[in-house]
Amino acid sequence: MIQRPDSVLIVDDDPVNLDLMNRRLGKQGYEIHCASNGHEALDWLHSHDADLVLLNVEMPDIDGLEILKQLRRAYTQAQLPIIMITGKAGSEKIVPALEAGANDYVTKPLDHPVVLARIETQLSRKHAEEALRESEERYALAARGVNDGLWDWDLSGNRMYFSPRWKSMLGWQEHEIGDDPDEWFRRIHPDDVDRVRADIAAHLEDQTPHYEDEYRILHRDGNYLWMLGRGLAVRNCNGKASRIAGSQTDITRGKVVDVLTGLPNRVLFMDRLARSFKRARRRKDRTFALIFLDLDSFKMINDNLGHMIGDQVLVAVAGRLECTVRSSDSVARLGRNHTIARLGGDEFTILLEGISGVTDAVRVAERISSDLANPFLVGGQELFPSASIGIAIYNPTYQSPEEMLRDADTAMYSAKALGKGRYEVFDANMRANTTARLQMETEFLRAIERREFENYYQVIVSLKTGRICGFEALVQWNNSARGILSPGKFITMAEETGLIIPLGQWVLETACQQMRIWQARFPNDPPLTINVNLSSRHFLQSNILQQCRAILHETQLPHSSLNLEVTESAMMPDPEAAIDLMTQLKDLGVKIALDDFGTGYSSLSYLHRFPLDSLKIDRSFIAQIMEDDEIVRTIIAMARNLGLKVIAEGVETADQVGKLLDLGCELGQGYYFSVPVNAQEATDLLAAGQHDNAVLSTARANYSSILNPIPSLAQHF
Ligand code: C2E
Ligand code: MG
Ligand code: MG
Repeated sequence: MIQRPDSVLIVDDDPVNLDLMNRRLGKQGYEIHCASNGHEALDWLHSHDADLVLLNVEMPDIDGLEILKQLRRAYTQAQLPIIMITGKAGSEKIVPALEAGANDYVTKPLDHPVVLARIETQLSRKHAEEALRESEERYALAARGVNDGLWDWDLSGNRMYFSPRWKSMLGWQEHEIGDDPDEWFRRIHPDDVDRVRADIAAHLEDQTPHYEDEYRILHRDGNYLWMLGRGLAVRNCNGKASRIAGSQTDITRGKVVDVLTGLPNRVLFMDRLARSFKRARRRKDRTFALIFLDLDSFKMINDNLGHMIGDQVLVAVAGRLECTVRSSDSVARLGRNHTIARLGGDEFTILLEGISGVTDAVRVAERISSDLANPFLVGGQELFPSASIGIAIYNPTYQSPEEMLRDADTAMYSAKALGKGRYEVFDANMRANTTARLQMETEFLRAIERREFENYYQVIVSLKTGRICGFEALVQWNNSARGILSPGKFITMAEETGLIIPLGQWVLETACQQMRIWQARFPNDPPLTINVNLSSRHFLQSNILQQCRAILHETQLPHSSLNLEVTESAMMPDPEAAIDLMTQLKDLGVKIALDDFGTGYSSLSYLHRFPLDSLKIDRSFIAQIMEDDEIVRTIIAMARNLGLKVIAEGVETADQVGKLLDLGCELGQGYYFSVPVNAQEATDLLAAGQHDNAVLSTARANYSSILNPIPSLAQHF
């Protein structure tokens, strides 16, 4: 370390003496400051540091003894040696001065070699003590952890001590890093360095109790490491910092590894992606792909089975992804050039390097999809957390890694929108769709306030008598710009955004009100019923029991007139909780129908466990019933065993009605009877039904010609 010169303050009212000493001592290499009285000396020391003070005892304003006492209140003998200068007349003051803390004294006329020797003695003792204190402090720092790198910055000399460990942490040998503070600062990541400097400055100015910061620093191998820097200033009595010493702890692992799965996290992934970018710009013959994967039902798993199970699912998925990608033939050929990361939540990303084109990436995505379709055994139960996958392939028009990630994300969203559990390769149209989707979400939010939703009603009829037994409420969105939108266009979005809950509540309330009006006007025996669809999210995440209770109370609808339609997806994540909730709803008197039966998990064996009232056979089975009636026959037989009513959905022809009657199905719903119609048209249907039991044929004739309320109708008529 280069030593700066020691600074000596001479305090003497005799200008000749002052000048003489100034020149003599200056020649010896000391930095000399002169003060001609006590006030000047104290003022100067207030804002400067001295290594030693030569202090005349006899002075007119404040005498030397008084100044000595004041200084000793601030500095110890080791911190600031003071040598008193006495004349003959002042010799009686030597003893009190030594008692008051003077380190030594010299007498006038001054013998300069003696003065110099005494100064040297005091200064070398001071330096020895400082060195000892420094090494003690360093030792204390070292004791904090052998893994930490230590540094010690002498602010007045602007030199910095870096411990061997500090250097080796960054891949350097002891002799390869000097003592310039810039050895540190120039290696700090450009985005972090200003903050680090500002934080140190704030601590030096005593604005913070200590210095602490997390920053990236360049390792010799070209990678950035994450460090936790800590430090403490050493201050003089005025609070001014003369040194700051501290440590540097490597926190890279915690920063770049996802704690739960052990996979690289977003930070590391983005770093790798940035490197792939650089490589791709150099090598035009190879490309790379980014796969973005999002679990489809994770939120449901988390909400219903708890975060512990949710975490286990994420760990299991991470493990399976690693196995799949590593064992995948197409990847084996690529070597280990891939990174699997968890971006956060249920989002995973995979960087596939060195592929020859989109087919390689698609092959991996297909493998992942099929591997994830195998059940996961978590917490003693089988779960199927399918995933939506988006693929983006590098192309030179990408401006930044973030842009490519965004495209892979967009492709993933598009896969989700197209029905989940599938993959999509990004193309430019998708970007436009994403924007459109965002816009639709905003419009959807306003639509509830603007009352743009309208309940349509589709009749449920007795196949035997042709009488209307009730209706299913099907919500539609009358969007001023887009026209009438059927639920298929917005229910998924409503579920994803959570808006399904307020919407569902509105549908339930409106449908119950309407049914109460119909019941009063058309007193059937048994009374007309209303079926209302409940999304799984609404069923599982809102207090549906209380909502039903309140709405039924308000509308005065008999509880048994309400049929809630749920799908298997509402029941499967946590069957026990679903059974519990259903039982409470049944205690309230409400009925429960299982919608779209046959399209979900469809395990007939579990059905008896749920307190259901009816089954709605999905329209896909009715559509093929004339060719193959086996499935419908089995479902009806099983439902009968369990004492459940059966409703056939999507009945479109008279032949189908005949077939269903043969198979013993009681109830039907479909375009053959009526398309979903608005409340007024449904009232007309009921009025017509009062005069003519065989409402099916008339309704079909009337409404197929005069109504065309939903777009899907066009393809059937
Ligand atoms: P879903 O509950 O199975 O409703 C029956 C769907 O089949 C309706 O489609 C209906 O228009 C259509 N449909 C009826 N008869 C026929 C037919 O003969 N042939 C054909 N091909 N289709 C027929 P929609 O109105 O588009 O509703 C689609 C789905 O959206 C519904 O399926 C239901 O799951 C959901 N949905 C509708 N309204 C609501 C609601 O208020 N809340 C919730 N959560 N979901 C709703
Ligand atoms: Mg339904
Ligand atoms: Mg259905």
